[in-house]
Amino acid sequence: MPTLRWPSVLTKRALARSAGPPLPPLATCRTIETYLEFIERSAPLLAQIAEFEDAMLARRPSEFPGLCAVCNKNVRFSIDRLSGQPLDVNFRETLACPRCGLNNRSRLSTHFLLSAGVERDSKIYLTEQATALYRQFKRRFPSVVGSEYVAGGTLGERGAHGWRHEDITRLSFDDAALDCVCTFDVLEHVPDYAAGLSECLRCLRPGGRLLMTVPFGVNDRKTLIRARVDPSGSIEHLHPPVFHNDPLSLGGILCFQIFGWDLLDLLRDLGLEDVALHFFWSPALAYLGGPQFVISGTKAHGSAGAPPSPS
Ligand SMILES: [Zn+2]
Repeated sequence: MPTLRWPSVLTKRALARSAGPPLPPLATCRTIETYLEFIERSAPLLAQIAEFEDAMLARRPSEFPGLCAVCNKNVRFSIDRLSGQPLDVNFRETLACPRCGLNNRSRLSTHFLLSAGVERDSKIYLTEQATALYRQFKRRFPSVVGSEYVAGGTLGERGAHGWRHEDITRLSFDDAALDCVCTFDVLEHVPDYAAGLSECLRCLRPGGRLLMTVPFGVNDRKTLIRARVDPSGSIEHLHPPVFHNDPLSLGGILCFQIFGWDLLDLLRDLGLEDVALHFFWSPALAYLGGPQFVISGTKAHGSAGAPPSPS
């Protein structure tokens, strides 16, 4: 059983690694069954993690010291609270690095990509542009293309405020044009997310990587549809509407679904191999909030990015 301590400063050797420090996973799960086995097997460790985090929050810190793997610098990450309550922290969306501006999930996703050995000149499509994450990607991967959904924009062209307009359900890229597609907390806002994923697969070259994060119910087999678009084009709310922050919209953006493990089945149906949730937790790297995860897969050779099977 590892002893959990307040994070210590990492070594210069770790800082010098171009891909950032090592990123050992807690677990890699391809099905809900393997996830539930991981939870059962790791119950003592997970209890210790929860105890560590509760004790940390009880001190009401506004910062947390650790190594930013994106900056390769020891920094003090900021901790934002949703309310005045000390334990009311959305770990996934806080712990921003004061240098790069990336929060917990964005740092982890970028670190995962760097650790995956993606080449600097790779053709990467990132489904965001008006963000600190895009600016960090641009520094690391100069060929990256970012975009936003620009209402009234022309696909593949710059629209309002200079952002490139893309609609994930009908991307402007050629077939197999991309080495990597990265989409972070976007697909929950896309009613026809299957069409969006199908487009991502179409644009990926065989052997190319899809890396994504989405709100995900780790204990849920099926995706929870919170809202949908009816044939007339109106939004039908099946649950009380929930809006997430959006850099282009003051009012936020509607969350249409919270994904379940059937998302991985869809990705496999679309032609992705080695689809898995990769779980991480590291106080030294300030990846907190229990096991945090990214979803990744590789486009199968011989796959054209098939249309989704009817459900
Ligand atoms: Zn940083």
